[in-house]
Amino acid sequence: MPAYDPNNIFAKILRGELPCYKVYEDDKALAFLDIMPRAPGHTLVLPKAPARNMLDISPDDLAHVAKVAQKVAKAAMATLGSDGITVQQFNEGPGGQVVFHLHVHVIPRKSGVPMKPAASEKEKPEALAEMAKRLSAALAGG
Ligand code: AMP
Repeated sequence: MPAYDPNNIFAKILRGELPCYKVYEDDKALAFLDIMPRAPGHTLVLPKAPARNMLDISPDDLAHVAKVAQKVAKAAMATLGSDGITVQQFNEGPGGQVVFHLHVHVIPRKSGVPMKPAASEKEKPEALAEMAKRLSAALAGG
């Protein structure tokens, strides 16, 4: 497996060099909206540790990402009136991974509504900003 590349797009977001629609942050993880959501509220949860994917992350950092993914899933269920949550995580190109900093997709689902194809449509900035506001308020407990 190739080494971690610190110039990947999510590393730049983690360093604050590129913007994101943040929904949650703590000392070990960051969660922000996918700009090409497969469903409204589609969120990515990342470790701050420089891990390429599940194959090189430490078990503790992976466990923390799972905890944050659960928080995001519960917030989406409570706030967006979701009927279910799809969780996805891809490892290496053949495993479906495109961006090589580990991330877990948390995708809120509504009954009878199929997910859009991956990376098919860029969401409007206003819609992403509004969604980030709603989810971050729920995650902050407000
Ligand atoms: P994958 O590596 O297959 O899990 O896919 C990477 C995901 O990152 C896709 O769902 C993209 O829509 C998403 N994505 C790519 N660039 C950005 C970005 N700048 N901000 C938020 N999401 C992104």
